[in-house]
Amino acid sequence: MNGVTQLHRPRRVAVLSVHTSPLEQPGTGDAGGLNVYVSQTTRRLAAHGVAVEVFTRATSSDLPPVAELAPGVLVRHVTAGPYEPLTRAELPGQLCAFTAGVLRAEARQEPGHYDLVHSHYWLSGQVGWLARDRWGVPLVHTAHTLAKVKNAALAEGDTPEPRVRVIGEQQVVDEADQLIANTAVEAGQLTDLYGADPDKVRTIAPGVDLDCFRPGDRAADRAALGLPAGALVLAFVGRVQPLKAPDVLLRAAAELLARGVVARSELRVLFVGGPSGTGLEQPAALQELAVALGVTDVVRFLPPQVGPDLARVYRAADVVAVPSHNESFGLVALEAQACGTPVVAAAVGGLPVAVADGRSGVLVRGHATADWADALGVLAREPRRRAALGEGAVRHARSFSWDRTTDALLAAYADAARALRRSLPRVEVAV
Ligand code: UDP
Repeated sequence: MNGVTQLHRPRRVAVLSVHTSPLEQPGTGDAGGLNVYVSQTTRRLAAHGVAVEVFTRATSSDLPPVAELAPGVLVRHVTAGPYEPLTRAELPGQLCAFTAGVLRAEARQEPGHYDLVHSHYWLSGQVGWLARDRWGVPLVHTAHTLAKVKNAALAEGDTPEPRVRVIGEQQVVDEADQLIANTAVEAGQLTDLYGADPDKVRTIAPGVDLDCFRPGDRAADRAALGLPAGALVLAFVGRVQPLKAPDVLLRAAAELLARGVVARSELRVLFVGGPSGTGLEQPAALQELAVALGVTDVVRFLPPQVGPDLARVYRAADVVAVPSHNESFGLVALEAQACGTPVVAAAVGGLPVAVADGRSGVLVRGHATADWADALGVLAREPRRRAALGEGAVRHARSFSWDRTTDALLAAYADAARALRRSLPRVEVAV
């Protein structure tokens, strides 16, 4: 990092994550990649000497006002509405209370306590925009997902994102000093669909925790999970919701059996994660589909797993499927590959970046059962191809890291600070 960047490095950043906390277990409800992103990058910012305070909504009266996520990273629980989880539809009504909580927390500190605001998801952007104006600091915003993109790729039966989000997201895009996109595709969506100034948009790839997600002893991991040593193991990891399309894997697995590609006794399909979003209304829908398809005997559902246990699942699998209808990046794909497991993913959003087609996995266009069964069938029949892709997967995953993401964020912060300084009126001093 050069000297100018050092000079503009913030001392303390207010990170806003209104609707979900980095202290929550990802893989269910509203907790997923955003939580992992915030947790991984804030720890590293702190290791670079940047103090971080994460503001999130208090969802229980048991939560302390302030908790430590890691050395140098505090999580402030802001009271905004009842001490219980609220749906995303209910949260816009609490933004005023949340903003008041953030501004009051700052007012209790010395003036100039925060040098920069980094908001995650549009709800936080709404808060960040006011905080930025009040404190006279830059606002850096990461959208994570975009309503217009999501609405263009809805799963059957999924609910469109409401207008309140589309309008609110547009305001945040207009107001932010810098917008962080996960991929060049997302950067293009910000400029083309939301009219963002290209000079404000920076593409920074997310990372993967290579200490946790690494290759290991597949046989031992299978044994630990009670999986037969020689079985074909397919896995889905993530929040169970229509957008993630876990049903695509289930249908394709049933098709593999119907085609006789694999014997029933030699197939296992794992689903890891909890219900989320519109899936919450029907948490049992996937189980019901398994019954309807007659595959309950080969399917296993596991609750959300923490890091090392999740790594074990990735390693135990022959293939991890990411059939999402949309995915701004897809951390699960990267984590699976870092463990040496090839990924079969839908060719949507950021997944063509997360998966190197033909080198670390396979991209499938569309969600037709036959196409997914074809892609999985080739890998089922060809263990050598799986092994080659597995090696490519580790190489590909290692080209990403949270350290690199954090360095790029620091550079973005420095740029935002420089741009703000340039825009401030110059004070002429007469001598
Ligand atoms: N995750 C987890 N335990 C689980 C399932 C998922 O910790 O049982 C984590 C996973 O490691 C990944 C994140 O949740 O980092 C999901 O991120 P992704 O980008 O794949 O999807 P998102 O949830 O953001 O839509």
